[in-house]
Amino acid sequence: MITIIGAGAAGNYAAYLLASEGFDVQVYEANSTIGLPVACTGIITSHFDTLIKPKKELIANTVESARIYSPNGKNVKIKFRHPNKIFNRHLLDQHVAEMAQQAGAEYRLNHVYMGNRPSGDMEKVMVKDLKSGEEYETETKMLIGADGPASRVAKNNGLYGKRKLYLGLQATAKRENDNVIDFYPSTQGIAWTVPESKDMVRIGVATPSEPQKYFEGFCRKVLGEDFDEKIVARQAGPIPLYDPNVKTQNGNVYTVGDAATMVKATTLGGIMQSHIAAKALAESITHRKNYSREWRTKMGRDLWMHLMMRKAMDKFTDEDYNKLVNTFQKERNRKILEEHDRDFPTRFMAKLLIGSPELLRFARFIF
Ligand SMILES: Cc1cc2nc3c(=O)[nH]c(=O)nc-3n(C[C@H](O)[C@H](O)[C@H](O)COP(=O)(O)OP(=O)(O)OC[C@H]3O[C@@H](n4cnc5c(N)ncnc54)[C@H](O)[C@@H]3O)c2cc1C
Repeated sequence: MITIIGAGAAGNYAAYLLASEGFDVQVYEANSTIGLPVACTGIITSHFDTLIKPKKELIANTVESARIYSPNGKNVKIKFRHPNKIFNRHLLDQHVAEMAQQAGAEYRLNHVYMGNRPSGDMEKVMVKDLKSGEEYETETKMLIGADGPASRVAKNNGLYGKRKLYLGLQATAKRENDNVIDFYPSTQGIAWTVPESKDMVRIGVATPSEPQKYFEGFCRKVLGEDFDEKIVARQAGPIPLYDPNVKTQNGNVYTVGDAATMVKATTLGGIMQSHIAAKALAESITHRKNYSREWRTKMGRDLWMHLMMRKAMDKFTDEDYNKLVNTFQKERNRKILEEHDRDFPTRFMAKLLIGSPELLRFARFIF
């Protein structure tokens, strides 16, 4: 038996892959409905198609370009080589959970993981059924913590590390738009508007401090003083900053996805990374490979590079952001961004730096 805590992106995909390999898989999820409440914008780059063939019904919108704004109001527009998809995140989670169930995984909703302890070469896992209030123990060969940013599995098993959490605040709001994603990186964090349809956007911010103030200021700027009347739904959730020293295995216990801080520190997106890591984990368990080495080989250097960029950005002034956007307005630099997938900066960073020594001035902020 393999026990997975959390039916989010990482947990569902790991459940699907492991059940497909013939393992007995049991998934415990605290919420009563998979994917709800939503705390995600749902932007995913085209590389995702190599992992899961998404059904049309899961996708709210398809977007072909993004603008990155600097504080002085200028922007650079990047046309993606392959369109990005805007998923209805709850439908994506439900879809992958259905794939897992069809492959044989069992799901228990309304069940909270409380703790675990070793028992011989097995783990005893304590869970609470939220409907009946009953707490009980179950035995498992392996325990996978796919329980998100504040992972209790990570905390209980010495895998939490010294992670830093950002807070994301988001709303769905009425706004006519030109079907372009807008990113606003700033000294406060990152803000965005993402078109859901021609007259609706997902508007949000992620920041380490004062999220409400940042969010309201951003809504006022983009939606106007009457922003409250345009908002139709609100969501919020923490986002971990990648910790390169994070341990992801302790004996029979593993962590994956946000539970293991596998998030791009620049854009704070982690859906793709959760799926890549879930695949690395399933392959490691199936073929008895070293999980830490597997996921680090697939995306460790990219996550590290995003973190270095975040470290530099944390020291930027408004003027530095203005200069950065200005640098990307140059045809050559813009083209490099357009041709590559932002999930994998190791594939284009050297090209950028070699041809654009002015970018190197930003590297000094890392040290
Ligand atoms: C506002 C916001 C916007 C975002 N937008 C994007 C985006 O556009 N693109 C992108 O790539 N990423 C985005 N992210 C990040 C993305 O949502 C996460 O990286 C992704 O959800 C990680 O998946 P996961 O499976 O690791 O964790 P989660 O999706 O958080 O799933 C964890 C699951 O575990 C369950 N759980 C937790 N504790 C327990 C417990 N004790 N017992 C049982 N179950 C438990 C939870 O209920 C949850 O279902 C955004 C995040 C936020 C907050």
